[in-house]
Amino acid sequence: MRPEILYPLFRPVGALKGVGPRFAVLLERLTGPHVVDLLWHLPTGLIDRRFAPKIAAAPSGQVATLTVRVDGHAPPVLPRQPYKVRCTDDTGLLELVFFHARSEHLLRQLPIGQTVVVSGKVERFHDTPQITHPDAISPVEARDQVETVEPVYPLTAGLTPKTLRRAVQAALDATPDLPEWLDPAYQKRQNWPDWRTALRTAHAPEAESALLPTTPARQRLAYDELLANQLALALVRLSQRRQPGRTIAGDGRLRRQVLEALPFRLTACQDRALQDIGRDLADERRMLRLLQGDVGSGKTIVAFMAMLNAIECGHQAVLMAPTELLARQHLQSLTPLAASAGLEVALLTGRDKGKSRDALLGRLAAGEIRLLVGTHALFQEDVTFADLGLAVIDEQHRFGVHQRLQLSDKGRAVDVLVMSATPIPRTLTMTAYGDLDVSRLDEKPPGRHPIDTRTIAIDRLDEVVAALQRRIKDGAQVYWVCPLVDESEVVDLAAATERYAILRDRLGDRVGLVHGRMKGPDKDAAMAGFAEGRLDLLVATTVIEVGVNVPKASVMVVEHAERFGLAQLHQLRGRIGRGDQASTCLLLFEAPLNETAKARLRILRDTEDGFLIAEEDLRLRGAGELLGTRQSGLPGFHLADLAEHGELLAAARDDARLIIDRDPNLLTPRGEAVRALLYLFERDAAVRYLRSG
Ligand code: ADP
Ligand code: MG
Repeated sequence: MRPEILYPLFRPVGALKGVGPRFAVLLERLTGPHVVDLLWHLPTGLIDRRFAPKIAAAPSGQVATLTVRVDGHAPPVLPRQPYKVRCTDDTGLLELVFFHARSEHLLRQLPIGQTVVVSGKVERFHDTPQITHPDAISPVEARDQVETVEPVYPLTAGLTPKTLRRAVQAALDATPDLPEWLDPAYQKRQNWPDWRTALRTAHAPEAESALLPTTPARQRLAYDELLANQLALALVRLSQRRQPGRTIAGDGRLRRQVLEALPFRLTACQDRALQDIGRDLADERRMLRLLQGDVGSGKTIVAFMAMLNAIECGHQAVLMAPTELLARQHLQSLTPLAASAGLEVALLTGRDKGKSRDALLGRLAAGEIRLLVGTHALFQEDVTFADLGLAVIDEQHRFGVHQRLQLSDKGRAVDVLVMSATPIPRTLTMTAYGDLDVSRLDEKPPGRHPIDTRTIAIDRLDEVVAALQRRIKDGAQVYWVCPLVDESEVVDLAAATERYAILRDRLGDRVGLVHGRMKGPDKDAAMAGFAEGRLDLLVATTVIEVGVNVPKASVMVVEHAERFGLAQLHQLRGRIGRGDQASTCLLLFEAPLNETAKARLRILRDTEDGFLIAEEDLRLRGAGELLGTRQSGLPGFHLADLAEHGELLAAARDDARLIIDRDPNLLTPRGEAVRALLYLFERDAAVRYLRSG
């Protein structure tokens, strides 16, 4: 249960004073449903209204707060003209300019003959100083309230800066003092304020330098968030460790048969990974290992060998994929491998229903099915194994830590191998997996051709299509990937459908379309048409991103490449270059590109090393961008920026480990404070592991 002290922070934003239902909806969209979400919405700029010169001394282009006398109003004569209010001080004239103004309102705010305080950006028009739509107008008595520093927050349409500022202020006012969860010595060494002071300071920047991620206040807040993240992972890990594992060490009989049937030899890094895994499986403790390697680096066979090891010991093994498409593809590639050891592979997805599903579940529960491939459908409660020994999870970043556990709960002390093709940098691996053991496949199987990657402005689309026509004539198959437009799939879909229509128009009916909203069988049909060569070109949204394998596809066009994450582009590109022809990847971008965007695309052109690409991307864009949840599924942070706070992450990891070592049930006073921290960052699930452990 969430501690009572946090209740005020988890009330809906609409419960704040001064936030009506209309603004509540906008705030919710911008920051989140709860008061606490407003706290995490830190300012990105500031306006200093303390600068209060005389009119003549106010520089153009700068915000100033001026104390002036209202001399007269000049309503517009012609419809399009602005309404002007003339003001003076003893150094000269200032015009206040309003468009679409209502004169009664202005006469009330700026009565003739009164002295008022106005604040806004001063410009000069024919040498006359002007402020157009002042940000603040108030009677001279309220001057102190105007001459302040105003934080500037990212906004959303319909929300005014003032409303948002007030809401944040109300949220800060509702914020309680919390017990300190930091180690006092560490806090002192870092010179960090307490949590509530840190929040208030971060929301009240006095100078530009206060917006930097390196201020004590911002560092502290970032650390808190990272600590919550690392603690949650450590607790999950602990609960897994608490359950005794078992040893899996098969006699190698099945593995030998499969290896003999393989048309290739394993690479050195595949062998190394298998040794790592073999050691984990043989160990009493439960395995939790990440097998990381670029698309096409040969993870599948490694995972399959591990599965065979479990089967040699009489257990069952399951491979779980994030999509139906991938599950089917795994089934396809594993079936012949399994056959060479006299084994069958079964498939369970969301499409299995009714009697056939019941029959399958029955055989699974009876242990007749030894090898199973599936999707999320595996999580369903009625899916039970006779004796699950190993769970392999492909493309783990799409599943949460929680789901990983759910699957491993399906057996007694199930060992877990996670496969990821996302070449995420070390720091990010840590936030997503904590102290997971990692094996990397960093060398490609022999015989791969490098991919010729080029960047082209989208206004040369005609040339691109003409070039594709020539390549298709020579027998090439082409992926055409449509951009991520925004969060809404509907818009993506519209873009893809439109492109499909245009390309069909130009290239004829051997053009197909596949997207995430399609019904399963339609999607399969389109994919199969492409895989079997009945289609020359496949227009796709990012559903083809992971895993799909069509060796004859040798050209890929990515539209609006600048909108994709680099890691994602790299993964997409991995769909080609799998066969024996030379491959080309065309990254279409919309000009002009800024320097960062140019540098990013250049990296892709220059290297095929996924880990290098990921590190560079992190450096160029910062983790915030890289971690766009939609693109990676990795945990997003509100306060921590991994490009800036990488060192804090390492410290948080060590701290989390220490806390859990000393006080595994979080029962000491510091433990209590740490619990509050976990709830504050909504790691409620992690606390539950604590309780049940
Ligand atoms: P990943 O899952 O890492 O994207 P796959 O396991 O699908 O990669 O392997 C890609 C292709 O490379 C498959 O066709 C596979 O048979 C082949 N392959 C795997 N290991 C080797 C190897 N050691 N030598 C040659 N080909 C290999
Ligand atoms: Mg794969």
